Amino acid sequence: MIRIEHDIHLHTTLSECCSSATQTPGNIISEGRRLGLKVIGFADHIWCNPEVKPISFYQSQDERQISTLRRQLAALEIPDDIKVLVGCEAEMSAPGCYGITPEFAETLDFVLLSTDHFHFRDFVEQPAERTPRGLARHMIKMFVAGASCGLASSLSHPMYPYGFFEIYEAAMNELCDQELTDAFGVAAEHGVGLEISGNYLPNPQRAMNFPVEIPLRIIELAKRAGCRFTFGSDAHSLEQMTRIKDLDFLVSTLDLTADDILVIGQ
Ligand SMILES: [Zn+2]
Ligand SMILES: [Zn+2]
Repeated sequence: MIRIEHDIHLHTTLSECCSSATQTPGNIISEGRRLGLKVIGFADHIWCNPEVKPISFYQSQDERQISTLRRQLAALEIPDDIKVLVGCEAEMSAPGCYGITPEFAETLDFVLLSTDHFHFRDFVEQPAERTPRGLARHMIKMFVAGASCGLASSLSHPMYPYGFFEIYEAAMNELCDQELTDAFGVAAEHGVGLEISGNYLPNPQRAMNFPVEIPLRIIELAKRAGCRFTFGSDAHSLEQMTRIKDLDFLVSTLDLTADDILVIGQ
């Protein structure tokens, strides 16, 4: 079994939704080394498309996220045994409307793109109808647009519909293996990774849990479609960084090998 040696979905206090004061770059790097990681990727939220005014959540989360992070990193002594990547978690509000420009994406080590932040109801396009089939269609539409837009290195928490967990399982049951494989094939064709996300794991703090068979099916079909994967805890606190170790369960169950992993930033 392969070892998970990177976590490229880490939020710092620069993210609006990060309320843990200890979630600083220095602490994250130390914790990453303790967990045996070789690569750490910072992925704070960002909206930096000057043509589209974002919701208030994103108003202070623009290009300055990156310059502030780079300043913080420059003040640290980073040990030689860990590689630090500067990326972001970018947003899409609809197919064709993305929160990062190709020019800005070029300046980063990687871009995670979220295609399913549906909890931003006034900003991210919603399913035409709030039914399992409506959600299923919408997840596929947003996924395919994000996978083919040319901006993403990897898609964060793919097929994980924020704001709709009460019909998540039913929506996934609406999708046959072929529909999913066709969508995942678009990511494979564009060389875009899929994140194996800490959010896929059962979480007692989450109001709505779902069977682990759902992420297992997503990853298995994506692998069959030729996708490669990145790992991301999506940690907003140091405690949540240990989720990256819990993802071993998915890796071993699906028997992923080094060939299944997308190497970022090298
Ligand atoms: Zn996200
Ligand atoms: Zn995130």
